[in-house]
This record gives sequence, structure tokens and C-alpha cells, in this order.
Amino acid sequence: MSTLENSRVLVTGAGGFIGHHLVSFLKQKGYWVRGVDIKEPEYAPTDADEFELLDLRRWDSCLQATRSIDEVYALAADMGGMGFISANHAQILHNNSLINIHTLEAARVNGAKRYFYTSSACVYPEYRQTDAHVTPLKEEDAYPAAPQDAYGWEKLVTEQLCAHYRNDYGIQTRTVRFHNIFGPLGTWDGGREKAPAAMCRKVAQAKLSGNHEIEIWGDGEQTRSFCYIDDCLEGIYRLMRSDYAEPLNLGSDELVTINQLADIVAEVAGITITRRHVSGPQGVRGRNSDNTRLREVLKWEPALTLKQGIARTYPWIEEQVREREALAYSKEVLISDASRIATV
Ligand code: NAD
Repeated sequence: MSTLENSRVLVTGAGGFIGHHLVSFLKQKGYWVRGVDIKEPEYAPTDADEFELLDLRRWDSCLQATRSIDEVYALAADMGGMGFISANHAQILHNNSLINIHTLEAARVNGAKRYFYTSSACVYPEYRQTDAHVTPLKEEDAYPAAPQDAYGWEKLVTEQLCAHYRNDYGIQTRTVRFHNIFGPLGTWDGGREKAPAAMCRKVAQAKLSGNHEIEIWGDGEQTRSFCYIDDCLEGIYRLMRSDYAEPLNLGSDELVTINQLADIVAEVAGITITRRHVSGPQGVRGRNSDNTRLREVLKWEPALTLKQGIARTYPWIEEQVREREALAYSKEVLISDASRIATV
């Protein structure tokens, strides 16, 4: 493993969930960090030495973002949970193609030495994920390619672009395929949230309202694995510092159904729930990470169980829900006070 502490790194998507955590992680390692995003981090101030608001779909913004940078962690993406990804194909393919093509080329032009690209388990073909008791996905299973959504197709093309830039131009690209990362300070409402955050929000709302019925998309027997953010950060760092240049899974291999996820969240929240199954986008029927290569290459694998990760995530989301409801209540009081005064 080589180390490059004190070098200057860029984190794109630094206003988002993983990017925000990654900035703090790299700062703790001693790097000088520039964060770039089209928005500020929503829930906590950034630890970045510099934070620039830039739209990375634009070539000039990418040149500005990558100036005087040794290493790039490319996390910026127009993305969200299943609901968002399955309903915005054109927008996602257009925006993410522009972001990735321009960021990688600008990094090369500006002389960056290493480039970390964040791909996704969404690259894996739909035909390998039709059964809830899915065979865990190995890296080579990505081909023959047939991702379910435009989001996955774009990730696959950028994986190829990274490989060609490495071979043709010598920039050291590293490519990770994340499998459902979750934790505090991630989007938890508004339509872009992913399953663990959405479930924590629903359970928190149930707990605070006293109505313990939870809506679940589909029959809830679809399966996934979920990886806690601290494990994700450690994996990112180990891969970036390694010599391994092919795409690598980074996720947990603890397979659960969405119904089990709901039960784990409810247990952590200390309530009993009843599930109401409604129609909604469910994605593939089953998906799990095969971590054989991850263990071989990084001599490491994610350590936290889903329950341990939820125990660290749920309290933060419950607090967010509580604060939002308190705000809504005080707004209501203000409006009713104002209208009472107006009628006196
Ligand atoms: P996120 O949505 O929280 O963060 C992405 C950030 O990119 C956002 O802050 C967004 O504002 C920013 N962005 C979007 N368009 C931009 C633009 N034009 N210019 C500059 N910034 C822009 O997502 P995340 O969960 O932190 O994911 C980070 C990366 O990891 C993404 O590339 C995502 O596709 C990938 N990934 C994440 C997961 C996961 O489970 N979270 C799984 C697979 C892959």
C-alpha cells in the first residue's frame, strides 16, 4: 500500500452523503481537501479546506475543480433511491455522463495522478437478480451487460472510460461498485432517499405519531445487502491506496429482505410495527455482494452488521423527524396566532 498523506485531493459530490463523510475522513488522514458540489452539505458543515459550488456538468467548472490537485475522488452524481432512479432515466444518463466525462478529462488535463470512480451494484444485469435467494454478484458477472436502469448503464460506460484513460494516458484509476451504503447525514426524505433511510423515517414517524403501520413497496420479500458508511470509507481508502485497478465490489454480504430491514429498524426504535404492502418501484428481486475479491485485494471486509449500522443511523433520523415536526407545529401556532390577531 502506498500513502500520499499531505497531497491535495478533490472530492466531488462533497455536499452529498458519502462525499461529506469522505471529506472528514481524508482530513483526519492529513490530506488537504477541496470539496465541490452544486449544493452545500445539508446537515453539517464541511471539514474541507476549500468548498466550491460548481456544476460539474460544465467543462469549465471541471477544469476549475481539478486545478492543482493530485488525486480525485469522483462521487458527484444525479442519483437517489429506487423511486428516483426508475423515474428519471433521461435526466440521469444526461447529467451523469456530462459530469463524469468532463471530470475525468479535466483531471487528466490538470495532471492528477489518481482518480477514484464510484460505480454501483446497479451495473449488474437484471437477468442475474430475478430471485430473492440471489447468488451473490461477482465482479465479472457485470457482462454480458444488461443493467436495469439508465443509471447503471452510465456507471458501466464510465467504468470503461476509466479503464481506457488508465491504459491510454497512465492516470491511475480505481473503480468501486458500492452496494447500498447508509448512515447518518444521508438524505432521509424528499424522494431521493434510499431504503434504509426511508425505513428509519417511516418507523420514526410511526413511533412519534403512535400509528405503528408502515408502508412497504411490494411484498417486502425482495432482498438486498446494506453497508454502513464507516466501512465504506475504510474500503474507499484501502482501494485508492492499492494497486488494484479493476472494478471492485464494496458492500456487505449480509442478505436481508426489506421486511427484515423494517423489523430491524423497528427493534432499534423500540416499537412493534404492522406492515402494509403497497405497489411501488422495487428494483431487482434480489441483490447481494460477493466479497471474495474484496477480501483478496484489500485484506479486509466490512465489519458492521446491519443492526449495528441501523443502531447508529436510526437515532439521527428520529431526531430529524422530531425537529421537522416541531418546526411544522410552531409554524401552525404562528399562523393561527397571526390570524387570531388579524381578526381581533
Ligand atoms: P448523494 O446524492 O448524497 O451525493 C451526490 C452529490 O453529487 C450530491 O450532493 C449532488 O448535489 C452532487 N451533484 C449532483 N449533480 C452535480 C453537478 N452537476 N455538479 C456537482 N455536483 C453534483 O449520493 P451518495 O449516496 O453520496 O453517492 C455518492 C456516489 O456513490 C455517487 O456517484 C453514487 O452514484 C455512488 N453510489 C452510491 C450508493 C449509495 O448507496 N449511496 C450506491 C452505489 C453508488
